[in-house]
Amino acid sequence: MPLIVVSGLPTSGKTTRAKQLHDYLFARIAETQPPKYRLHLISDDSLSISRAVYDLSPDTVRLHTRSANSSEKDARAALYAAVKRVLSDKDFVILDGLNYIKGWRYQLHCEAKAMRTPNCILRVACQVDQARQVNEERLRAGQAAEQTDGLAEPYEPANWDNLVFRYEEPNPMTRWDSPLFAVLWDDDAAQTKRTFDDIWDAMAGEGRKAVKPNQ
Ligand code: ADP
Ligand code: MG
Repeated sequence: MPLIVVSGLPTSGKTTRAKQLHDYLFARIAETQPPKYRLHLISDDSLSISRAVYDLSPDTVRLHTRSANSSEKDARAALYAAVKRVLSDKDFVILDGLNYIKGWRYQLHCEAKAMRTPNCILRVACQVDQARQVNEERLRAGQAAEQTDGLAEPYEPANWDNLVFRYEEPNPMTRWDSPLFAVLWDDDAAQTKRTFDDIWDAMAGEGRKAVKPNQ
């Protein structure tokens, strides 16, 4: 049914939280028999999109590319197509990624609206220094990390800095960034579950139905 757009700085824990949300929703959906929804997790990793597509440094952009950000535009088109392919009133879609451009989030919001399904943002909030540390650890681990964990591809430092600089903070005053939910780096399992419960209530509407008889 709904589209949940994960957004956050590079290496801020987005994939970790997206997987936790996936497990949570999987269990919630399984509670109803037969299940009412299907569940999808779409990410750069699931579409084999490299971190390098976000790199705008002139010295790393290949000569034959159309423009510095053409590879990122292609990546967004692939993500958009993947979302569009599955989004329906019976499908929960988690889009795990930077999702840092407000115009892109607006586009996703319009797509959900066209499918008559709700959407929300899950902001994975993390101190810049904490996120930087994760990327630096991954850079140090280098090839070894890539071999043991395909998801651990680090960003080049200039690319990482630039993405932090370009990040457009979700604004809950806009309709495409609301409702806006947030998980913090230090949120424990209980707090995270509360946030996921809120997402479920807002997206699947069960919470609203449950309170109606008492009103
Ligand atoms: P992103 O998808 O934003 O690049 P990841 O989810 O891959 O980030 O997380 C980066 C690293 O930080 C992983 O090694 C993960 O285990 C660790 N990590 C992520 N979130 C947390 C957290 N809330 N607390 C502690 N470690 C975390
Ligand atoms: Mg990730």
